[in-house]
Amino acid sequence: SSNLIFNPILTLLYSNADPCTARGCKWKRNRNGLVYVPYVIANQYSPDEIQVIKRGLQSFTEVSCIRFVPHEGQRHFLHIQSDSGCYSYLGRQGGGQVVSLQRPGCVHHYIVQHELLHALGFHHEQNRSDRDKHIKILFENIIPQQEHNFMKRKTNNLATPYDYNSVMHYSRYAFSRNNEPTMVPIPDSNAVIGEARNMSPNDILRINRLYCGINTYLGPVA
Ligand SMILES: [Zn+2]
Repeated sequence: SSNLIFNPILTLLYSNADPCTARGCKWKRNRNGLVYVPYVIANQYSPDEIQVIKRGLQSFTEVSCIRFVPHEGQRHFLHIQSDSGCYSYLGRQGGGQVVSLQRPGCVHHYIVQHELLHALGFHHEQNRSDRDKHIKILFENIIPQQEHNFMKRKTNNLATPYDYNSVMHYSRYAFSRNNEPTMVPIPDSNAVIGEARNMSPNDILRINRLYCGINTYLGPVA
């Protein structure tokens, strides 16, 4: 399946699927309660960039049961590399899967966290099933062919509130074709959205609920 894994177009297809029920995309929990996610960092980055990436990987250790560990022959792993753009597949795909952090644009702490959260199975915040109560999408301002980034998903929100400050929330002008907002918060249209530079408490809570044994249940993943 390496052809599939290396085709970025398929990111969209997988995003449309119901990945965790259909494909078993949760990473498995070890008997000791930790969830080990092996990674390889491609030989494309400067020492400074590697530090940023490693700090992003390490940031999950401090707040959850997720442990990103260097790949040592495990079957399933993340292949972090500088491909075109910042992207990741949703949840565990099987075998090696790309997490693209294009240098230099994508090598920032919050983007590393963002793409890793996709790899753990989390959608964008503005794709949540309940988003229409919190955000109005202005489709007329979105670049044509990019509307899919604003589609509503069937998500498992893990009993966490909609969070403008999630590292998974796009900014107000994401994919704008005319410098007008593509998303406006409800009811306070001036609320700050999508400016997080670190995982929010809700981002952390969701990881813990999905993976670490706090109120977890099988179902469509957020
Ligand atoms: Zn994303």
